[in-house]
Formats: sequence, structure tokens, C-alpha cells
Amino acid sequence: MGELGERAAELDGGDSLALVRGEFDLAPGVVYLDGNSLGALPRRVAGRVAEVVGQQWGRRLIRSWSEGWWTAPERVGERVAPLVGAGPGQVVVADSTSVNLFKALVGAVRMAPGRSEIVVDAATFPTDGYVAESVAGLMNVELRAATADRLDDVLGERTAVVLLNQVDYRTGRLYDMASATETVHGAGARVVWDLCHSVGVLPIELDALGVDFAVGCTYKFLNGGPGAPAFIYVRKDLQGAFEQPLAGWGGHRDPFAMAPTYEPAAGIERARAGTPDILSLLALEAALEVWDGVDLAEVRAKGLALTGFFIECVDELVGDAVEVVTPRDGMRGHQVSLRHDDARALMAELIAREVIGDFRAPDIMRFGFAPLYNRYGDALSAARALADALATLKDAPARP
Ligand SMILES: *Cc1c(COP(=O)(O)O)cnc(C)c1O
Repeated sequence: MGELGERAAELDGGDSLALVRGEFDLAPGVVYLDGNSLGALPRRVAGRVAEVVGQQWGRRLIRSWSEGWWTAPERVGERVAPLVGAGPGQVVVADSTSVNLFKALVGAVRMAPGRSEIVVDAATFPTDGYVAESVAGLMNVELRAATADRLDDVLGERTAVVLLNQVDYRTGRLYDMASATETVHGAGARVVWDLCHSVGVLPIELDALGVDFAVGCTYKFLNGGPGAPAFIYVRKDLQGAFEQPLAGWGGHRDPFAMAPTYEPAAGIERARAGTPDILSLLALEAALEVWDGVDLAEVRAKGLALTGFFIECVDELVGDAVEVVTPRDGMRGHQVSLRHDDARALMAELIAREVIGDFRAPDIMRFGFAPLYNRYGDALSAARALADALATLKDAPARP
């Protein structure tokens, strides 16, 4: 079995989260390392969706709106809240991350009259950058780029809001949310944290750090399913001044009064816009039940150990043939990114071997590790498959 094989078996044997794996309906024979892009399917989701469709829609029909559908964005928001360190009444689940970024950025600029700049993470996920640029144009403010660990050079009294990613989606690098938030506040600006690659795998303390706004996906490490609606957090004391731009009836203080003018709800409900996406939202609600009783500190510890073990396997089995671009110290999220000139072809070879990660142009292979269902054995299998794929590519005739 080899020394790495023995280590993997030993680590899996001592894994305190091993039982949670049974909550997932995993594809047999597949080593799934893309939970940072689309989380695996929790077993309880299929039955719940069948119930929502068959009973709530099929039998209760329109009555279901007053039997839990209309208030589902706040109810499901309260299930996300403990995962991001938020007290009640500050998180709502609605729309996509892109749309919530738009709401948060416009709302933050409106709160800062006289300030004329949006600062955005230089290495940000594309949609964040695109939305920030659009908001800058609409609001007639400037857009500047910075990295979360080097904000001092860029921030100043012109800064209205800073949009940062906690984990870099390409490299897996983790940024220090506490110090970056403090720096932004030191400049008198607001911060919007994008938690897409960290929610569900890192202990996050939005309230304790005094974060202003946060957004995040629910279909990645939260396993809500393809296109599951995103969440938005607005700190309690900012909600009264939060004028988000999508003044739809969903955020109205009394939507069913059908009043001629818009008056926002007092609390986090004002972050809503239109009718909630019930099927996806209730699938997510079922998926989130998997977190009941799960300790995020344990999840984080396992994620660090899994990614660390994968790096060790890659070092030993693959060596210098690839470059590990993810930090080897503790400042990484739950993915490992490897650089290789032929990354695209290599990832195709891996997927042909039922080891599923993903490719990010031009030369990055990403391997996401979801501590709730990935095993140390998966890390070793992936490294072995990579060594095998490299050998295959080497033997293949050179490309023209
Ligand atoms: C996945 C991801 C998104 C996705 O946004 P959508 O609106 O759901 O498409 C946004 N930001 C980051 C950092 C992401 O990783």
C-alpha cells in the first residue's frame, strides 16, 4: 500500500467528521474535488424537493405562500447566519451573488456622500469586478484595484467602499479578514466581503469583526444545488440607512398592501427584491440541515489537514512537474491549485480517470476539498491519478 496509503487510511480512520459523509449521495467510483464550484448532493434534498413540488405546490397551491414560502428568505437566512458568525435578523437568502454585490455596493456608496471611490480586489472573481465597474459608472465614482493585504497604499478619504474576497478563487490564498476590515474602517470606509469560497468551511465572525456587508454563494461548499440563491448580510445598525437599488416589492415594508410608493422594510427584508425562487431555496434549506451539530472549527482543521496531505502527496508523487501555487502555510482556503503549462489537458485526463477537479485559464488546475465528504484517501487517489496523467501526456506525441 505504501507509506502514503497507510497514512491516508490512518487519517480517515481517525476522522471525527467521517460520519457526516453518510449524509451525502456521492457518485460511486468518483473522486469529487470540485465542491468549491458545485457542492455534492445531500441525501435529504431529493425527498424534500419532491415534497415541496408534490405537496406544497401540487396540493396546497397558492396557500403555500402564507404557509412558509414568503418568509423562507429570512428563515433560510437564519440557518446561514451561524455559519458566518451573524446574530439574528441580518442575513437573507435571495437572488445571486452578482445581484447581491450590486445591492451592497450601491447601498454602501449611497451611505458615503462626498466619497468618490470604490476599491475592488485586484485578483477578484470576474463577476465582482464587472459589477463593481458597472456600479462605479452608474454612481459616477472611480474604481481602483488593491489586494487585501496591501490596502494602505490605496485607501483614503475618497474611499467609499472596499470589495474583498476572503479566499482567492484562483490560488486558494486566504486573507486576514480581521486586519483588512480594521484597515478599511480606519479609512472611514465600508467593507463588502465576498465569502463564496469560505462560507461553510472556515469559522467566520462577521458580527465580532464589525463587518458592514457580506455576500456569498450557497451552491459551493454549502451544497445548495446548481443556482441555489445567494445570501447577503447587512450589519444590524446599518440596515436603516441601507438603500439598496432594486426597490422591488419583496423588500417593501408591507408587500401585500400593494401600495403605490416604495417604502422599505425596517430590517434585513429590505435586501429582498422580487418573488423568491422557492424550489431552489427550499432545496438549500434541506441541504443546510447537514450542518446541524457540525463544529466549524473541526471542519476547518480537517480542511487544512486534507489540503496539506494533498500537497504532501503531490510533492512525493509528482514533484516539480507541477507548481503548487496555494500557500503552504495556514493562509489557504480549502482548495489546492497547481500550475502546469498543459493544465487543461491534464485536467481532462484526470476527469477521464474519474478524478474531478477543474481548470482555470490559462494554466491552473484546482482541487477543492470539502471536509464534510472528502477523505484523505481522495487526496491520495487524486495525486496518484495526476502522476499517471502526467506520464500519459509525456508519452503522447508532441503537439504541433
Ligand atoms: C462563485 C463566485 C461568484 C458567483 O457569483 P454568481 O452570481 O453566483 O454567479 C461570485 N464571486 C465569487 C468570489 C465566487 O467565487
